Amino acid sequence: MSLIVQKYGGTSVATAERIKAVSRRIVQTKKNGHQVVVVVSAMGDTTDNLLKLIHKITSIPPKREVDVILSTGEIVSAALLATALNSVGQKAISFTGNQIGIITDEVHTKARIIKVNCQKIQEELKKGYIVVVAGFQGTTYGNTITTLGRGGSDTTAVALAAALKAEICEIYSDVEGVFTADPRIVPQASKLRQISYEEMMELASLGAKVLHLRAIEMAHKYKIPLYVRSSFNEREGTKIV
Ligand code: ASP
Ligand code: MG
Repeated sequence: MSLIVQKYGGTSVATAERIKAVSRRIVQTKKNGHQVVVVVSAMGDTTDNLLKLIHKITSIPPKREVDVILSTGEIVSAALLATALNSVGQKAISFTGNQIGIITDEVHTKARIIKVNCQKIQEELKKGYIVVVAGFQGTTYGNTITTLGRGGSDTTAVALAAALKAEICEIYSDVEGVFTADPRIVPQASKLRQISYEEMMELASLGAKVLHLRAIEMAHKYKIPLYVRSSFNEREGTKIV
């Protein structure tokens, strides 16, 4: 049975209704005969709001505590999504980065993943569970919570796809794929059906916000095909290969 990793960004899980819609898409993937590991971002503007809250307390917060606070956003979405899946009769279980063992270096707020322990995920998949993982976070060897930098849930998804040898990593957001220019600014911009890792890395380093740069680098390194598409419709997205 093939394994698919799906990542849903903040707008895709922004409300209870959106979370239920995402759960229907996941159930469909499972029914199509795949094992599914899902990575989620924090709901909507949660991360920005948590940062504002921190800065109401101090302009120089301890980075260790910033990471603990920011990591909660993704934990809430993961547990809500697992709850939604359970409520429609699916076996689903959520995990934090710490519970899984996504090991990172100690660079708070911009940590790099060093190692991913797959054992827990594999055990649950074998029992028939859909596994939902909180994105954007890890833990150091010293068991301190870290976050991976803004937009880092993409990197969580690709790291899991690489470690679990997934067939594909699907990145769902509110954009339909990779365009020749920002479609919000250039209305004539057209969607690309396929793009290479190298071209995508160039776009990301020029400021395209479709994918986290580290996620593309990692996908390239481990040859994980990425599929960027919208969670709001069924249209074809862009394959990065
Ligand atoms: N929630 C985090 C952020 O807003 C991580 C992510 O969305 O990937 O940057
Ligand atoms: Mg976000």
